[in-house]
Amino acid sequence: MQMREKVGVEIAGATKRYGKYDVLSDVSLSVAPGEFVSLLGPSGSGKSTLLGILGGFVAPTAGSVHIGGQDVTFAPPHKRDIGVVFQNYALFPHLTVGENVAFPLRARRQPKADWPAKVRDALAMVELSGYEDRRISAMSGGQRQRVALARAIVFEPRLILMDEPLSALDKQLRETMQIELRELHEKLGSTTIYVTHDQREALTMSDRVAILKDGRLVQIDAPQRLHDHPADAFVAGFIGEATLIPATRIDASSVEVAGAVIRTARAIPQTGTILLAVHTEKLLVDDGSRADANRLHGTVRSVVYQGESLRVLVDLGGGHVVSLRQPSHHHGRAAIPEPGRPIALTLHPEDAIVVPEARA
Ligand code: ADP
Ligand code: MG
Repeated sequence: MQMREKVGVEIAGATKRYGKYDVLSDVSLSVAPGEFVSLLGPSGSGKSTLLGILGGFVAPTAGSVHIGGQDVTFAPPHKRDIGVVFQNYALFPHLTVGENVAFPLRARRQPKADWPAKVRDALAMVELSGYEDRRISAMSGGQRQRVALARAIVFEPRLILMDEPLSALDKQLRETMQIELRELHEKLGSTTIYVTHDQREALTMSDRVAILKDGRLVQIDAPQRLHDHPADAFVAGFIGEATLIPATRIDASSVEVAGAVIRTARAIPQTGTILLAVHTEKLLVDDGSRADANRLHGTVRSVVYQGESLRVLVDLGGGHVVSLRQPSHHHGRAAIPEPGRPIALTLHPEDAIVVPEARA
């Protein structure tokens, strides 16, 4: 089974107003043919609204949508040739797996003689070969989600939209399915737009991640770029595990943070309020060996055992507390003083990320 064609998607100035409120404001983004892009943001940030505009389920107040160069802004969903998977995957419980998967072929009036082969191919793609005659009620949660996927891809859509398709599954199955969905994407090569509020899920699966906040697009970038070059304090706080501490510019390559001078190898925003974003994994306990690193001095406030790691809160004075993760093995634990005792931390200039409070 192969996708017919790869298509790009262009959203220009998409706005959606309900009453007096813009729940989506002037969002523009292009998705390349074959790309996997996630829409990530907190609940209520407009992710489902944007996906609905792409799918034709929500009419935009302003703006346009092009799929494969074709203006579909006002086209109904069934004219858009899109495979859709939602959180509540709405399978027909009284039909078999095969009948569920064949449903879009029936709806599209494809020749009945072609159905069995197409259903077989789609089920093979989601590793459910031979399940045609099973009842939906006899399938597990993860299997049902795969049936929903098979149903979304059986008619070889040029674009797949997914809205939090894994959020009803437990953690372990969700993590397995993330990898499987990504592999399926690589096999099919289809352009995919995926909604999630789970940053780790977005980073795991996507070529690029679009961050939405209050109906606006804040940043769209590859996962590593997003993590290491957040556009503003919101992105820095949302991606990874970071503490944000107010900073003051000293010169082109250093800032003052909680009474310490922090050198950075990164650009420092030239105007407005700035903050230092300190990711938990970038802060290390000073063992005297890293001469080129910045040093932060503080007091251990608390140490919380979290299985594979310890979460350590360090009071830097002036009301500023940073958080770091320390491996919970013997040496890791031994390096952390008792609460109330002084501790020195290092932060390499390459890891010293200074962000504007909000993007200009
Ligand atoms: P997300 O998927 O990021 O959680 P949504 O796109 O579902 O966010 O919703 C964005 C905002 O739009 C929310 O504040 C929501 O309450 C509002 N909203 C969504 N649909 C409607 C609607 N049909 N009428 C009024 N407000 C809506
Ligand atoms: Mg939603």
